[in-house]
Amino acid sequence: MRVLVSGGAGFIGSHTVVQLVAAGHDVVVVDSFANAKPSVVARIEALTGQPLELHAFDLTDRDKTEQLFADEPVDAVIHFAGFKAVGESVEQPLAYYENNLGTTFSLLRAMQRHGVGTLVFSSSATVYGADAPVPMREDLPTSATNPYGWTKVMQEQVFRDVAATDPRMRIALLRYFNPVGAHPSGTMGEDPAGIPNNLMPYIAQVAVGLRERLGVFGDDYPTPDGTGVRDYIHVEDLAAGHIAALHRLTQVEDPVSVWNLGTGQGTSVLELLHAFERACGRELPYEVLPRRAGDIAESYADPTRAHNELGWRATRSIDDMCADTWRWQSQNPQGYPE
Ligand code: UDP
Repeated sequence: MRVLVSGGAGFIGSHTVVQLVAAGHDVVVVDSFANAKPSVVARIEALTGQPLELHAFDLTDRDKTEQLFADEPVDAVIHFAGFKAVGESVEQPLAYYENNLGTTFSLLRAMQRHGVGTLVFSSSATVYGADAPVPMREDLPTSATNPYGWTKVMQEQVFRDVAATDPRMRIALLRYFNPVGAHPSGTMGEDPAGIPNNLMPYIAQVAVGLRERLGVFGDDYPTPDGTGVRDYIHVEDLAAGHIAALHRLTQVEDPVSVWNLGTGQGTSVLELLHAFERACGRELPYEVLPRRAGDIAESYADPTRAHNELGWRATRSIDDMCADTWRWQSQNPQGYPE
């Protein structure tokens, strides 16, 4: 297939592009580089051994999006592009709604005009909202606790409504749990701008000495050690889930399919910290801070549906995730070069 990957220069996008090429697909990337550095492109090309077809523009630009589809016929779209910082979304809600919904509107318009019906969408376990029971199943009701989460809920709804009126559409909503890890080569990984919001990149920056100590947001949750529990999934497993979904979409009858991508295993903040200590070979300092507003105690997937319908399952362990993150962070302490 010839696959358009929006946000293909980002963390999950770049790993998926490498796997798509390895699986024999032709890939076209569109990325605004709002939250990715151009130097990732050479890293992708080094891993695939071929030049990357890249279009650098913002998909909210409908004319450019239309022109891209006119110039580059594709069979399918994997849509990663979007803003993703929860805290920032609370500060700048309109920017999040405009960008995340705007890219989706623009893409869907162009897909419909050019007869492209296959789409794999980056959704998130955040759509299960604040009070969802664990393990989380795809048939739970959706809601959100911040504008970022609402953009995912709203985009899912837009896809459902459009697919209901267009018989060509086959859409996968992939609900990611907590993506971490890096390419095993150590040449690609997560490169957050500024102070990391997420746990794994923060720990990795403590390990290379960029940050003094980890702040643990609360140790009085109703969990085994009192710290928050999440379902961390290796980005390489996540990337493989996209390819499995893309292949599955060519066979399904339902216009919209929803699959959780998680391991089904919960890991606490302190368990992840200690796993990282094993990977980097030293103790990492931390202090317990108050809970972070909006956090839930536990989130982990019931990944049964993806096992059964995609024949996919996550195979990499927490130790693999930490070892690969450490290799990336220690080889690239400042992230990708400017
Ligand atoms: N967390 C923490 N310190 C940090 C960042 C995160 O203790 O610097 C905790 C957070 O409270 C949660 C877990 O780590 O329990 C995962 O947080 P992250 O932001 O990575 O993912 P999310 O909360 O969105 O699932």
